[in-house]
Amino acid sequence: MWAKNNPAKFWTPGCTLRIAFLNGTQEFKDATIAAASNWLPHINLKFDFVEGEAGDIRILSQEGTFSSFIGTDARLFPDEPTMRLWPHPAGSARYFAANVMHEFGHMLGAEHEQTNPTANIPWDMPAIYEEHELTANPEEDDYRASVTRKRLHDWYFDRGNPDESIYSAYDRTSIMHYRIKQSWTLGDFQLFINLDLSEQDKIFMSNAYPYPVCE
Ligand SMILES: [Zn+2]
Repeated sequence: MWAKNNPAKFWTPGCTLRIAFLNGTQEFKDATIAAASNWLPHINLKFDFVEGEAGDIRILSQEGTFSSFIGTDARLFPDEPTMRLWPHPAGSARYFAANVMHEFGHMLGAEHEQTNPTANIPWDMPAIYEEHELTANPEEDDYRASVTRKRLHDWYFDRGNPDESIYSAYDRTSIMHYRIKQSWTLGDFQLFINLDLSEQDKIFMSNAYPYPVCE
């Protein structure tokens, strides 16, 4: 797991985060609270779930997207939802829960694990370029291609700078890891969606949000 520390985006340990539901059904809220609460045994923060618009975190139930600001970046946009969660159809409760844990990982400050400074994924760049109708040469990009290339780099290829990051060793079981298709890699490397917090996820966040210790 990893987070940027320049600037650091962690909340202050010991705080209670007020987490407001802007909309959504009771079933959606219950499922969100249950999944997000999987973080709580590992961190010195409390979550206070409320209705309405007044919250450090403001969750919008919205079809078609899962997203969240990273950590305290949520403070930079006081008039916007800070997290968007796609309400789940019947039968996909586990995937919804995994996505909620992932977005709450962002909310706690974590970045995507496939861009961990120590990630060593054996990308098959020619295959990835071909699938996205890109050439190896960025100078040949039209607008569509340049947007696609930037997104691929932001989401997958550009690893964090170790000098500006807090990180544990690359962890392919992290809840913050994207699915990786076999056809995108060389050799035998693929990842399905991780459904639970990994042991490293728990350790990383318990270090980021420590309880006071007697000295
Ligand atoms: Zn994400």
